[in-house]
Amino acid sequence: MANLLDEYAKVAGENVVDHLRQLSAPLAGMKVVHVNSTKLGGGVAEILTKLVPLKRELGIDASWEVITGDADFYSTTKSFHNALQGNHVHISDEHLRHYEETNTENAAKLAPVLEDADIVFIHDPQPAPLLSHFPERKGLWIWRCHIDVSRPHRPVWRYLRSAVAGYDASIFSLAAFAQNLPHVQYLIPPSIDPLSDKNMPLDESEISGVFRKFDVDPDREVMLQVSRFDRFKDPVGVIEAYRLAKKFSPGLQLVLAGGAADDDPEGAVVLDETKAAANEDPDIHILLLPPDAHRTINALQRAADIVVQKSTREGFGLTVAEGMWKGKPVIGGDVGGIRLQIINDHTGFLVSTPEGAALRIRYLLHHRDKLREMGEKARSFVRENFLLTRHLREYLTAMVSLANKAEDRIEL
Ligand code: UDP
Repeated sequence: MANLLDEYAKVAGENVVDHLRQLSAPLAGMKVVHVNSTKLGGGVAEILTKLVPLKRELGIDASWEVITGDADFYSTTKSFHNALQGNHVHISDEHLRHYEETNTENAAKLAPVLEDADIVFIHDPQPAPLLSHFPERKGLWIWRCHIDVSRPHRPVWRYLRSAVAGYDASIFSLAAFAQNLPHVQYLIPPSIDPLSDKNMPLDESEISGVFRKFDVDPDREVMLQVSRFDRFKDPVGVIEAYRLAKKFSPGLQLVLAGGAADDDPEGAVVLDETKAAANEDPDIHILLLPPDAHRTINALQRAADIVVQKSTREGFGLTVAEGMWKGKPVIGGDVGGIRLQIINDHTGFLVSTPEGAALRIRYLLHHRDKLREMGEKARSFVRENFLLTRHLREYLTAMVSLANKAEDRIEL
């Protein structure tokens, strides 16, 4: 049982794990429930897969529940996502009612678990209205927002705000996302798991084999973006950057690796747009991977010369930390959580246009020593700041402080 923590101690340090044990002692036996809207695909599922078992290993009675809905529900919540990230999207009253009804149905299903939980984490807008169904709740409810709400479309934020204002606390990934809410707000950036299939060390043969498997020429340069097919990830902008960079590196190839998330109904449309932009260029490889292709993504990130994440909005961007952990300086959009990870000109480059991205790709491909040096800095920066152990420590701290909110002093 204690094996998992021992493994983390090897990567992050014995003292880090001791600190986690100390922080979790007052929470031992507490019933903690996380609720989101998908088991597979996207960053939230990626994080919960790791966070929940680790909390359990620390003696917390943690569990993970997933709400379900029909296609209309997911299309409405995708509109929420788009509006909260700044698009001027109108959501009709009819869709809002359906969103609320779906939450009412899920509240009934989850009531046995949620009613007597000590702490409930509700992730993102999809399950946010669940709170209104538990007026007699026993526990503390925390709304955890993973998306880039730095400039939300106001009418949609106003609506959602009324659903989240009643929570006991909220968590945002960075200060720029904090909102005017009548409760305490914690700032906790996400993290990657260094021991997972996605991030563990791989044999050279597995790394070099991945390009052969997808018909990518290992003897020519490769740039990579791993993302769901979502307009905010700007796959078409990545293709533009590739075309511009190819003028200076004619052998350059582009790999766009993505898959679907259960709660993202727009993926197929954006995939079609991406294929149209690629225009059957044999050096553009669009890979549709199954949701459990973690080792494949790991190998692609290690094998690529250049990793990009050219998002135009980004709550955090786990793929940035993943690329950096593999010793790559990431070229990322100058937005949201990417700014927290990329220190411009040190751990990568922040860019705002395809032209800017192409310039940086060209620079790194022609300055391999700089690429290596920045890559090493990128890996240490992730080790210091974006591993699961730091994330868990901050969650535990928030839980302890919230559970003791009447106290001036908390003895640990
Ligand atoms: N991912 C994956 N398969 C894919 C696309 C993405 O496993 O086809 C993973 C990716 O490696 C990362 C997560 O899904 O761990 C995406 O998280 P991120 O924060 O980058 O973006 P989100 O999808 O949450 O907006």
